Amino acid sequence: MAETMLRITDLVSSYGHIKALKGISLEIQKGEIVSLLGANGAGKSTLMKSILGMVRTEGGSIQFKGQELIGKKSHEIVPMGISLVPEGRKIFIDVSVEENLKIGTFFRKRPPARDKELQDMVYQIFPRLYERRSQLGGTLSGGEQQMLAVGRAIMSDPQLLMLDEPSMGLAPLVIAEVFHVIKKVNEMGITVLLVEQNAKMALKISDRAYLMNTGQIVISGTGEEFLQGDVLASVYLGGKKG
Ligand code: ATP
Repeated sequence: MAETMLRITDLVSSYGHIKALKGISLEIQKGEIVSLLGANGAGKSTLMKSILGMVRTEGGSIQFKGQELIGKKSHEIVPMGISLVPEGRKIFIDVSVEENLKIGTFFRKRPPARDKELQDMVYQIFPRLYERRSQLGGTLSGGEQQMLAVGRAIMSDPQLLMLDEPSMGLAPLVIAEVFHVIKKVNEMGITVLLVEQNAKMALKISDRAYLMNTGQIVISGTGEEFLQGDVLASVYLGGKKG
């Protein structure tokens, strides 16, 4: 029996009087890659921010490994083992790659040996970050900055890693590399929740996916079912099967 890592039930979140999530229910099993798809404004980022306690929730429940997250603050949630790579990367441009990675450790207290282990793991996944460890963050290419943002999130030792549009603004070859890396991170034992506009590539690496529209989930299924589904192909993937 699979172990449920995250269980969201009837979640309602709002910004003032704008209801951005209108009763979301979903589950993520340990070890999965799950994609959240949907047009701009569907509520994908809001869902991730709600999980991290960054948006006001009005109802429902978010359970992480059986513990309720609603009512907790981000600084309490991150140490429980959830990390977010935000849209637009947001690395520190005027400190080195190595210092950027260290910032990822600030949110969790643990033995320095574990920090070293995580840093080794990041350099193993991203050899280019190791080569550039003394370089300032701002001198990295867009793709390398994205790798650094993912590396920094790994440094906080997450069991669940959430990525908000990691391929945004990157060249096609670099995008392929980003997806490859996400798969590698997952194979190292980290469960992944992925928000992507690049639906086809996201689905190819996903175990399951949810399609959102105006604050609700409209379809859920396996990555394969989504890729083969004619309805979705015509509505969302531009009429082509991948
Ligand atoms: P995108 O791909 O454009 O980021 P999304 O699916 O992530 O889209 P959200 O950013 O979660 O969508 O937005 C969901 C809804 O909430 C939208 O109607 C948006 O206008 C609204 N919204 C998002 N952030 C805020 C905010 N800080 N204040 C008010 N409304 C917001």
